[in-house]
Amino acid sequence: MSRDALAPDTEYNVVRSETSIDVDGFRKGEPTGEIECCECGRSHLNIDEIPHEKDCSQRWAKTDYWRDRFND
Ligand SMILES: [Zn+2]
Repeated sequence: MSRDALAPDTEYNVVRSETSIDVDGFRKGEPTGEIECCECGRSHLNIDEIPHEKDCSQRWAKTDYWRDRFND
């Protein structure tokens, strides 16, 4: 499993609204801007901030941007 969040072998979903615009402000089927981890099902607006489950294999998958910021 790659540690690059944007690598082809990591699995994320673009979250799409499952409700009408009255409920969450998005039309049904419209992307909400959130990214969901296919492994543990958690989601967040920022792919690097997804609160993965403790045993999620994609927990440490981060983008190059994140690594540049926090790892020297
Ligand atoms: Zn996850």
